Amino acid sequence: MAHSDNKYDIVIVGAGPVGILLSLCLSRWGYKVKHIDNRPVPTATGRADGIQPRSIEILRNLGLKRALMAYEPAKVYAVAFWDPLPGGKGIHRTGSWPSCPRFIDTRYPFTALVHQGKIEQLFLNEIEKAGTTVQRPWTIVDFANTGKDEAYPVEVSLKCLDTNVIENVRTKYLFSGEGARSVVREKLGVQITYKDQISFVWGVMDGVVQTNFPDINTKCTIHSDSGSIMVIPREDSMVRLYVQIASSTDPDWNPRKTATAEEVQEAAKKILHPYTIDWVRVEWYSVYPIGQGISEKYTLDHRIFMGGDACHTHSPKAGQGMNTAFHDALNFAWKLHAVESGFADRSLLESYESERKKIAEDLLDFDNKYAALFSQRPPNAEEVGNAKSLSSDEGEENEFVQTFKSSCEFTSGYGVAYEPNVINWSPSHPAQSHLFGIDGVKLVPGKAFTPTTVARLSDANIVHLEQEVPANGSFRIFVFAGSPSRNKKAVEDLANNLEKDKSFLSVYRRPDIAEVSYFERHNPHSKLFTLSFIFAAEKTGVDVSYLPRVVKDYHHHIYADDVPDVRVPHAKFSAHEKLGLDPERGGVVVVRPDSHVSCIVRLVEGSGTVDALNAYFKNSMLSLALTAELEGYMFMSRVSAAHLSTNLALFSVTGLRPKDTEEDPYYYTFKVLCSSCRETHPNWVSFTRYEKHEIPGSRGEANFVWKCKLCGKTHSASITAGPNAYEIPENAKSKIQKIIEMDCRGLEFTDFKADGDWEAKGAETTTAFSGIDLSEGEWYDYDEKAGEEVSIKDIKWEIRNIK
Ligand SMILES: Cc1cc2nc3c(=O)[nH]c(=O)nc-3n(C[C@H](O)[C@H](O)[C@H](O)COP(=O)(O)OP(=O)(O)OC[C@H]3O[C@@H](n4cnc5c(N)ncnc54)[C@H](O)[C@@H]3O)c2cc1C
Repeated sequence: MAHSDNKYDIVIVGAGPVGILLSLCLSRWGYKVKHIDNRPVPTATGRADGIQPRSIEILRNLGLKRALMAYEPAKVYAVAFWDPLPGGKGIHRTGSWPSCPRFIDTRYPFTALVHQGKIEQLFLNEIEKAGTTVQRPWTIVDFANTGKDEAYPVEVSLKCLDTNVIENVRTKYLFSGEGARSVVREKLGVQITYKDQISFVWGVMDGVVQTNFPDINTKCTIHSDSGSIMVIPREDSMVRLYVQIASSTDPDWNPRKTATAEEVQEAAKKILHPYTIDWVRVEWYSVYPIGQGISEKYTLDHRIFMGGDACHTHSPKAGQGMNTAFHDALNFAWKLHAVESGFADRSLLESYESERKKIAEDLLDFDNKYAALFSQRPPNAEEVGNAKSLSSDEGEENEFVQTFKSSCEFTSGYGVAYEPNVINWSPSHPAQSHLFGIDGVKLVPGKAFTPTTVARLSDANIVHLEQEVPANGSFRIFVFAGSPSRNKKAVEDLANNLEKDKSFLSVYRRPDIAEVSYFERHNPHSKLFTLSFIFAAEKTGVDVSYLPRVVKDYHHHIYADDVPDVRVPHAKFSAHEKLGLDPERGGVVVVRPDSHVSCIVRLVEGSGTVDALNAYFKNSMLSLALTAELEGYMFMSRVSAAHLSTNLALFSVTGLRPKDTEEDPYYYTFKVLCSSCRETHPNWVSFTRYEKHEIPGSRGEANFVWKCKLCGKTHSASITAGPNAYEIPENAKSKIQKIIEMDCRGLEFTDFKADGDWEAKGAETTTAFSGIDLSEGEWYDYDEKAGEEVSIKDIKWEIRNIK
């Protein structure tokens, strides 16, 4: 049995790319993370190295791009293709093309190359700053989802490989980022299926070379009469050579075939002939056997998950291993955050596997094709010429060119397109409104939001809209507000409807909204949403002082669409027009926390736009609280909102409520969890709605002020509405009823005890019943007037907290 301080929100096994990105997000977002790796030190050299354009965007969103660029990575903008000269005379360049062609709209049209260890170190530094330390060398020895502890159902045994000490912990989630040989996957009995029976053995060598080969600083695929290699420039004047040592298509295929560094160097010399190459030093050499495998499942129970190489392996040719791992981690991180914040139903986690497994399958399919086209069949000069000269909409394309182009989009990361589901709106989505979808819009739900440049009104800076909100787990709601004069009323109506009690923004309003600093950039109303307003006007054409209050609260996120964009040279309002939005009418684009588009809604006068957004957030299973608003919960706190629901059965009584007057106040009794140190405190706490205590360090007061004994931080809570009476439900939906609403600051209530007296009245007779004790979970009495027994049974309290 684990001690209370051995309880974690998540245990992450493995500190490779998938583990570190997940760990960073969750540590920054306030989760208690246990993170281990079985190696004594992080990756020192070698392994994956290519960070693709979309991954660079992700790293920038995490605030890591500057540190990445400080390594001065090699940047690959173009790929050169070399083929054999006739008559055994060596090799010659037959073509070249951009590694990220222009039809892909990205800020970073290159692959940044720096070894995996340096990238891991970037993350490890930030993880440490966020309060988590990766423990090494530790391994996982056992785990089980026992469910004994409802809140922390997974038991995990970890072992320090230095001391053999075993530590047993409990956790809400276990995540395996262990790489291809995942102990967790094996123990779960999840099979790897092999897409294709082709397997490869690769020799990979990083080093500094002296050569007269002219394209040594360019990514090249070289086919010669002596074999094939891929050349990739690296940081610190290095170059990486991939040499295929064996393929299962070889007549003498042997998966254990290997080669020494010297043999690989000799092979490279022959392939590059008549050019010469000599190694000044070798930094890393590895033989890397690959099978194109995919895990059948990414989870079995939505508590124990896997990602990265634990779920998919493929050839290193397209440089996808680390990138796919990053995408896995980000996809999982925000969904887990949404669920644990009480924002989303647990079923949202199902979309992690369905979205990411589909991408892994696509990757393996592509990898097969890519391997066949680049490794086994050198394209001829004519095809290469076509690849170089064709733009996206010119002329006929052969298979090679088509594969090249479609693969470029996919491998850049911008081709990742999640299919329609509860998060990615499509006409079959349960949220229905004629306002969903706008003709001509080029954004696609499920695909990454297109980079867009605008001018920020507050400081006239030209900014990258897609980067304006950091990766903080919030949905980004881009209100392309169109013409300020034409859409004045539509924007006002949008603001008014957002302020209504049942809007998605109000339901998830911050508890400390009255005290939110003017300098809060991203989440002035809710931790779950950031709104941005982009007007199709010049800077001087937007008078902020006349904008509705809700809009002004996002004063860091009000923009003028007056920055030219070379992709739409004739556009007056480039951002609107590039995205296909009418600059007069505008439109609202909802973007997921991982920057993929969720839905697009027309901006209209009246309540329609917010109604559609409410429907989207409610129906996409994201919004428990919106559903609760409609159904009514027993308790509802707006902050770390405590949703206490019950399946209370009333027999011949109604109007059940706590006896709660100023003279005789009701003591509401809860178990409390500190949001800072995530500890649930052993003692029950009670408070009334009449008492008022000063909050230290603030001018405010609260019904309940509490100092966490473990971390010493002071938190507070107040009852803001209620108590309401619980009436006999009219239908199944209204069985769950709200009794009180609370503002909670820095704490969450985890359990409720119905201490104290409750009162009710006879359903038909109105006979008053007082002194009702619900602490045993049921109550019986007799209504003399009606001549029948009255009772309350099956009382179940359930609290859900929303951050
Ligand atoms: C030798 C080698 C060479 C590679 N070369 C290339 C390449 O040239 N190009 C390319 O694109 N990709 C390459 N890859 C693949 C690339 O490194 C991966 O795709 C990428 O790192 C996947 O990230 P991950 O986090 O899923 O797994 P990994 O990076 O494998 O990280 C897994 C981590 O978990 C730890 N771990 C494993 N089991 C346990 C356990 N039981 N308990 C605790 N910790 C554990 C490991 O020590 C490791 O730190 C190579 C991989 C290997 C192994």
